[in-house]
Amino acid sequence: MKVSVVGTGYVGLVTGACLAEAGNDVVCMDVDADKIAALERGEVPIYEPGLEPLVAENVAAGRLRFTTDMDTCVDHGLFQFIAVGTPPDEDGSADLRYVLDVARGIGARMDDYRVIIDKSTVPVGTADKVRSAVGEELAARGQDLEYDVVSNPEFLKEGAAVEDFMKPDRVILGCDNVRTGALLRELYAPFNRNHERVITMDVRSAEMTKYAANAMLATKISFMNEVANLCERVGADVEMVRQGIGSDPRIGFSFIYPGAGFGGSCFPKDVAALERTARDHGYTARMLQAVEAVNAEQKTVLERKIVARYGEDLTGKTFALWGLAFKPNTDDMREAPARRLMEGLWARGATVRAHDPEAMDECRRIYGERADLTLVDDRYTALEGADALVLVTEWKPFRSPDFDHIAATLRDPVIFDGRNIYDPAVLAPHGLAHVAIGRPQTT
Ligand code: NAD
Repeated sequence: MKVSVVGTGYVGLVTGACLAEAGNDVVCMDVDADKIAALERGEVPIYEPGLEPLVAENVAAGRLRFTTDMDTCVDHGLFQFIAVGTPPDEDGSADLRYVLDVARGIGARMDDYRVIIDKSTVPVGTADKVRSAVGEELAARGQDLEYDVVSNPEFLKEGAAVEDFMKPDRVILGCDNVRTGALLRELYAPFNRNHERVITMDVRSAEMTKYAANAMLATKISFMNEVANLCERVGADVEMVRQGIGSDPRIGFSFIYPGAGFGGSCFPKDVAALERTARDHGYTARMLQAVEAVNAEQKTVLERKIVARYGEDLTGKTFALWGLAFKPNTDDMREAPARRLMEGLWARGATVRAHDPEAMDECRRIYGERADLTLVDDRYTALEGADALVLVTEWKPFRSPDFDHIAATLRDPVIFDGRNIYDPAVLAPHGLAHVAIGRPQTT
């Protein structure tokens, strides 16, 4: 089947590469000429496990091509996926500028039936706007062509995006007619073989499903962070509490890890956008407001713990940071807790020596050259000249380091553990103090 994907970021590139791998003929389009040039040279501009070989194999097989030309893209695919960004507007709502630009681009060029698929995360009602935008362009050309607009929100996780796309928990299809439902089912059939994963529903419910899913996951995190903050105040250990509640199958273990707050390109903006949608419909979404407020506060938790140990003025102090990405297995630093932490430390006069397995180029791109930031290629080099170690992202190589080496290198042998990955009982014999989230700290 012929597929076009507009927007070649995390979602678009993974969608395009996976659909090509299933045997489809795919064109990926982006307005970012540098990104397309890199992809044409065989360079994948983002870090995502398994993506580079998948792209290379499908390009070599002639099933995957890249372009900056919208006309080529519209001419190619029966399926036109919209996978562009929907960043937050100033008021928290999703900025639909890019989505509607693409819709207009499709309407301005299409000369035959097209299935237009919203894969970007978009508020309820967006499919109607996309339909109107396409229709207006067709009308302006005096054309009366058939087209359908489908909501097919994406649930992949950065860091496991290829795996998630290939073996989805579910594929949500929001469509208004049987014809498009059948076409989309055929497209997704290779990913739906051993048991039924496609859930078909009306367009608005599909749009809402994506926001409800992300809001629920964000709620679990903020809830657990609140429990952690309470644990600290009452002398309980949140790691024990986590084991205790997670063993109840009604609660489960996933997404109840306390930490330094959630970041990334999705949870913060999607919670804000859903809260905004509620307000636009005359409803105050109090839980969503609380989820956001708890998270904003939680992103300052490591800075507050550092201040509690060293005082408000951190001039002359140096902190080793392990982890910059908002979570492991990605180079994405959008809304990352590490950013809030570094900016807080810099404002107090401290310097930072940071290491991340994949996100250092992204950090350089965001902050440029600064005297108070040194990025180093090795986790142990980050410790040199540092007062303390702060663990911000729970990458696997950070889990079992040489604790004797850490204790011997730091001026003050303490680890601020923003993800509760270390056991204070293991650190103590090495002479390392442990300051974690929601746990009794050791000195
Ligand atoms: P991204 O920023 O990585 O990629 C978006 C791409 O769209 C960029 O390369 C940009 O240049 C391109 N673009 C912008 N305007 C364009 C236009 N008019 N024509 C062609 N290309 C254009 O974004 P992403 O992380 O892939 O997210 C895309 C959408 O998918 C968002 O709505 C997001 O909320 C949603 N989503 C993201 C994830 C995730 O984990 N990243 C998961 C599920 C859903």
